[in-house]
Amino acid sequence: MNFTGKAAVVTGGGNGIGRAVCLAFAAHGAKVLVVDRDGDAAVAVAAEIGGQALACAADVTRADDVAAYVARALDAFGRIDCFHNNAGIEGRVGPIVDYAEADFDAVMAVNVKGVFLGLKHVLPVMIRQGAGAVVNTASTAGLVGTAKMPAYVASKHAVLGLTKSAAGEVGPLGIRVNAVCPGPIDTRMIRDLERQISPNRPESVEQAYTAGIPLRRYGTVEEVANVVLFLCSDLAGNVTGAQYVIDGGRTAAPAGVS
Ligand code: NAD
Repeated sequence: MNFTGKAAVVTGGGNGIGRAVCLAFAAHGAKVLVVDRDGDAAVAVAAEIGGQALACAADVTRADDVAAYVARALDAFGRIDCFHNNAGIEGRVGPIVDYAEADFDAVMAVNVKGVFLGLKHVLPVMIRQGAGAVVNTASTAGLVGTAKMPAYVASKHAVLGLTKSAAGEVGPLGIRVNAVCPGPIDTRMIRDLERQISPNRPESVEQAYTAGIPLRRYGTVEEVANVVLFLCSDLAGNVTGAQYVIDGGRTAAPAGVS
């Protein structure tokens, strides 16, 4: 994979999966715009990369912020070849019957509206170029349900819907749109989730998760980044509208009784 001369934009690039994708793009020659609501985190990742990267503080739920990060990328690089539409939150864990509307709205704003706004503002750039590759971060929670995470599960199903809809729309214009569906990946998000589920014994959540994963471990951010880069590369030239599962086999072969 060679991204020399290419420009990449990564939302949620200040931490976790997005940070790993920024580092991987840069390692393969791309110029990178690190976008994050946490401006300090974005600056830190850009500084870690060096001269090839810039940081932009932006909240993906706000259309004016999204327009601003697209303008920043065009100003700096003149184009956007690869877009990782990745920022997301897990939100609150709790049963539907007492799930606060505000908690539901907060998750939908970042995970669905943020992804929609990213597509709405980046695709016109790629349409003008007649080329580009987008990867949206969904989740295995976009494929199967999880009790007590109604907003997150609904939001990630919606990300897959947006991915398929966009792929059909811009495929004829030379643009590919795919999704990654990570299972449990070792980031701040999964550790927060563990503490929400079991405040006193968060490690028991990892034990329960990994018992149901054929590879018996959480994935790493680098393993997700590898798939994102593949999907953005020419190696995936005929891949669009696809959803790539990176979950150690968890959804394909859940733990049985034997
Ligand atoms: P993380 O918390 O480590 O990083 C997420 C980053 O997104 C943070 O830097 C945060 O500041 C940023 N962010 C959050 N809301 C934002 C907003 N409104 N605008 C701009 N930036 C915002 O989490 P992660 O695990 O790296 O998650 C990245 C993506 O991967 C998310 O979409 C998440 O749903 C998805 N995912 C994670 C896992 C996992 O187990 N970690 C599994 C499946 C899917």
